[in-house]
Amino acid sequence: GKKIVIVGGVAGGATTATKLRRLDEQAEIVLFERGEFISFANCGLPYHISGVIEDRKKLLLQTVESMNARYNLDIRNFSEVTAINREEKTVSIKHVQTGDEYTESYDVLVLSPGAKPIVPPIEGLKSANVFTLRNIPDMDKIKAYLEDNKPNNAVVIGGGFIGLEMAENLVHAGVNVTLVEKLPQVMGPVDPEMAAIVEDELRKNGVELILGDGITDVLEDGTKVVLESGKVLESELIILSIGVRPENKLAADSGLELGERGGIKVNEYLQTSDESIYAMGDAIEVTDYINGQPTMIPLAWPANRQAHIVGHHINGRNIAYPGTLGTSIVKVFELTAATTGNSEKLLRRLGIQYDVVHIHPLSHAGYYPGAEQISLKVIFDRETGKIFGAQAVGKDGVDKRIDVIATAIKGGLSVYDLQELELAYAPPFSSAKDPVNMAGYVASNIVDGTIETVQHYEVDELLQDGAFMIDVRTEKEHADGKIEGSKNIPLDDLRNRLDELPKDETILITCQVGLRGYLASRILQQNGFKVKNLTGGYKTYSIFK
Ligand code: FAD
Repeated sequence: GKKIVIVGGVAGGATTATKLRRLDEQAEIVLFERGEFISFANCGLPYHISGVIEDRKKLLLQTVESMNARYNLDIRNFSEVTAINREEKTVSIKHVQTGDEYTESYDVLVLSPGAKPIVPPIEGLKSANVFTLRNIPDMDKIKAYLEDNKPNNAVVIGGGFIGLEMAENLVHAGVNVTLVEKLPQVMGPVDPEMAAIVEDELRKNGVELILGDGITDVLEDGTKVVLESGKVLESELIILSIGVRPENKLAADSGLELGERGGIKVNEYLQTSDESIYAMGDAIEVTDYINGQPTMIPLAWPANRQAHIVGHHINGRNIAYPGTLGTSIVKVFELTAATTGNSEKLLRRLGIQYDVVHIHPLSHAGYYPGAEQISLKVIFDRETGKIFGAQAVGKDGVDKRIDVIATAIKGGLSVYDLQELELAYAPPFSSAKDPVNMAGYVASNIVDGTIETVQHYEVDELLQDGAFMIDVRTEKEHADGKIEGSKNIPLDDLRNRLDELPKDETILITCQVGLRGYLASRILQQNGFKVKNLTGGYKTYSIFK
């Protein structure tokens, strides 16, 4: 049989090893892992730090022994692969405890070395109270630090998924958390008005949020964090989570081709520029499924899927990897925030024409207890209705809607097709018109020109330039909070008050979430007015303000 050597024993590496065995009983499969643990649940690490996942053992999905026994593998932990000799088809290995070095030959080499936390060159980040989180030992160190030092406060640097999860779990552990993010918003992959809902939730739960400010220095043994603004934060504990960089040293040293941001370049079968060497997971550059550009998307689903594809390709079956959609989800206290595909800001940066809808439907029938509002945004091609992406934030039902839309995208469905999805409904679960259907109806109206919309960030400037806006909510809703300059004409009075509206200019319409605005649009259009409805209504506008 073939001799296959795998570098990295967690998401991509361990999955490849077991796949290979299922496909070929004869293959010799050697897996090297630098650390002690293989196949552990990295995604669960933040939750053991707070004790939400109480039992540490639950994160250790497999041991070297259990996996060797079941799959007849040759797994060697504490073993770092230090070099690849492509001509001889060998790798050099160093045992990290004994220092022993040796070489091992391969017919096929699989690289799944992952990505490591970015640590900027600031001397103070070497202090004993500064941590990054990637693996079990990192987690153990943070947990031990919490137990030994009982810090009152912590500074989490970086508002990505890991930063958000750490902020929440530290709060659960009784620590006062300040979260610092250099961008003006948390959760980079979503658009700012969606992130703003998450930011509110963080503040509501006592997290002090500092946005648009980065760290410049860490002083006094890690007890002071200095920000670009000059602000100085007390920090008994610092979690550094500003992103990851691909572990590309092996690949780079052996002359494999890398992308601009350092990801290992691969073809559609995950072969590197050397066809006997495959690479996958956080270490590789992938193609963005929506826009076709090279990108880096360090998530667990792609690593698992790629492992499947590599296992098959080594055994002679060609399954192409079509690119990464970037579907992802995070829990932030009581909220769930999820996204799939491209964001509006990414499309704008790439110069791709799009349109968006914002809707705020309930997670299930309003008359059944426990219904919660979902803020759902769908981004699509205004000409064809092709779905570019979707984002949702809410307390309930967010995961389902994003997963349905992610499935629709992979199935090549358009916003028209979203209307046609026949989804499971009974009052505790959804409405007869599911939020995904609703988004389809609203977006289809835009694609076929039935309604025109205006976006929350365009409104202020239009009003300053003298645009006329009506707010069709009730008088009370208007009095409780409104877009400055909007004139209140409740929807039910609209037909009797048409004489108050200008015939010769485009009228902007707003309501609470966009639905009454749509009804008003239809009334006014049929009476000869030109109108644009504010997508997402006052709700989206006010979140963003
Ligand atoms: P890894 O799983 O990181 O495995 C790489 C392994 O290779 C490492 O164990 C490393 O020690 C080893 N290695 C590297 N170089 C060598 C070498 N030269 N020799 C030997 N061994 C080597 N993704 C999600 O989709 N959802 C989540 O909720 C989520 N939560 C996360 C939470 C945390 C705290 C972290 C750290 C990650 C999370 N991720 C999540 C990301 C997900 O874990 C990764 O995308 C996934 O593990 C990538 O798999 P991989 O095989 O590329 O790398």
